[in-house]
Order: sequence, then structure tokens, then C-alpha cells
Amino acid sequence: MNLSRKTSGKIQTVTGWIEPDLLGPTLMHEHVLCDITPPELASQGGLEVEITLENVWEIRYHWTRHLGNSRLNREDIAVQELKRLREAGGQSLVDLSCVETKRNPLGLRRVAEEARVNIVMGCGHYTEEFLSPEIAKKSADMLAQEMISDIFKGVDGTDIRSGIIGEIGCSYPWTETEKRGMHAAVTAQQETGAAISVHPGRNPEAPHEIVQFITDAGGDPTRTIMSHIDRTIFGCDEVLRLADTGCVVEYDFFGIESSYYPFQEIDLPNDAMRLNMIRTLVDEGHLSRILISHDICTRTRLVDYGGHGYGHIFANIIPMMKRKGFTDQEIDTILVQNPCRLLTFV
Ligand SMILES: [Zn+2]
Repeated sequence: MNLSRKTSGKIQTVTGWIEPDLLGPTLMHEHVLCDITPPELASQGGLEVEITLENVWEIRYHWTRHLGNSRLNREDIAVQELKRLREAGGQSLVDLSCVETKRNPLGLRRVAEEARVNIVMGCGHYTEEFLSPEIAKKSADMLAQEMISDIFKGVDGTDIRSGIIGEIGCSYPWTETEKRGMHAAVTAQQETGAAISVHPGRNPEAPHEIVQFITDAGGDPTRTIMSHIDRTIFGCDEVLRLADTGCVVEYDFFGIESSYYPFQEIDLPNDAMRLNMIRTLVDEGHLSRILISHDICTRTRLVDYGGHGYGHIFANIIPMMKRKGFTDQEIDTILVQNPCRLLTFV
């Protein structure tokens, strides 16, 4: 299949093509409709926990422990949340839910139309613990053809097409099955001209290993977004070494102000610490390789359930950036120009 390059120069949203200059301020790593319930919790079954004032802090702190918290399945709530994003100054976001995390093309289109926010949808597969046995058995070529079809034809029998590849799940150590999925993502990138967004394994070496793999496979590191740097790399030298590879470095836990991380014994940074790391990257010449987002994938991070919502970066982080000496041009590059370049098909 080489229908490619008819896509070149445009951005593909769930409601159709848009010209890049209509994208505006953009969150590059979010989930609007998804289910990222940890498989172990899902296997226990039971009833969803109702979030109340009494339990909301506990559920927010231990965000993976409570059934229902990792399910964003109410379109009416999604519409309200995205309207709040628009009121705060955002225009577009990328929903990186993939097959395993219950990507919902028809729901995303309805929500995007009603809230009047551009939504770009992802494709590909998540980490191995989430994969069905059938998908884990597929060849790299089969996986690549599915992603190419999601981008050029449409997802799940609809005409709603993906506009980015990812988030592609990697564990640490990186499994052979996941490597096959990444190889497929590189093939899909070569065929379609889309960017790849990576969910790296939870180890400081994981992003380096992944960028090297993508480069060796013929992918474009400058169109590779390394997500979740907040929980993966902690030293300035380490993150500069990653940016030196040419890949895009994404701090996408904005709004998580807790130092506790449920998956691993690490100290999560807060928003101010994230911005200090980003300042270092900018000062060292990496402005064009930085993205920021919230990676909202739980109810407790939505305004409806007492959380900060998708508008947090616009309402609270941009003013903090200004206080820390970021210029308007730097903020525009991080929130508008970089997303625009990465979402525009080449
Ligand atoms: Zn992720």
C-alpha cells in the first residue's frame, strides 16, 4: 500500500484534515476516552469505586488501586472537560489511547465535535502485560499494515483515521514482542510520514536503547517523541544526553504534584522541578525538542472529580513559566510550533 504523501503537509484529526496553522496550543499526550486499568486489578473484577470527598485524596494518591479510576468512559464528562480546556486557552490535543487501552474513535469524534477541540488519535499497541495472545503472536509486517491502515483508511471499520503512531508500549527490560511492535511502528512511519510517540520502560537507559533501535531500523529520531521523561530520567546530564540524539523529550506528568509513584521506587518531580529541567534543556539549545502535557488517564485528574483537568498547563503552568523567565516565543514553540511540526505529515 502506498497511498502515502497525499497526507503530506497536513494534520489528521478525528474529524478530518486540518491545515497546520489551525492547530494552535496543543497537548501532545493525553487520554480523553480510555481504560488503562492495570490487568491485575481488572482480573479481580468487582464494582467501580464511587469517588467522594472522603476518598478522593486516597484514590488520587494510589491512583492505580481503585477499580474505575483508570476508566474514562463518560462522553458527557469528556465534553465538559474539553470545553474547560478551550476556555483555558487550549485548542487541540492528542489522545494516545491504543488498542489495549480502549481507543474509541467514534466517541472521540463525537466529543471533539461537541467541545470544538481538535483531537488527533493514535494507533499501535501498549506494553506486553496488556496484550492479547493473538496480538502478541502477530508479525512486525502485520502490525505495520494495521497501523498504516489506521492512518490511511480508518480505525475499526470507521472512516476515522489516526494522525500519530503511539503510544507504543515498552517495558524494561524491553521484550521481544514489544520490539516487534516498535519495528512495525518504524515501518508505519516510513510509509505514512507520521511521528511516533513512545511509552518507554521505567529505567533511565530505556529511552536511549529505544532511540538507537529506531535509528538502526531506519526511523527518524527527530520525529520520535519520548514520553514520560518525568518518571524515567532524573539528572540534567542524562536528559541532555537523550536530547543530543535528536529525539523529542516530553514532560507529560504536569499536574501530578505527588512525589509518590505507584509503579516503582522513584521520586516524582513536581511542576516547578519539571520546568527547571526544561529550562536547562532550552538553555542548552534543545527548545525545538521539548513537549509538555498532562497524560490524564484517571478520573481523579479531571475537574469533575476534583482534579486539575486538561486546562492546568494553560491556567497555571504558563504563568509559572513566565515567572521563571521563559519568553513568550519559547512558550509558543513548546505548546504550538513543536506540536505543529510533529503532527504535520512529512
Ligand atoms: Zn504512557
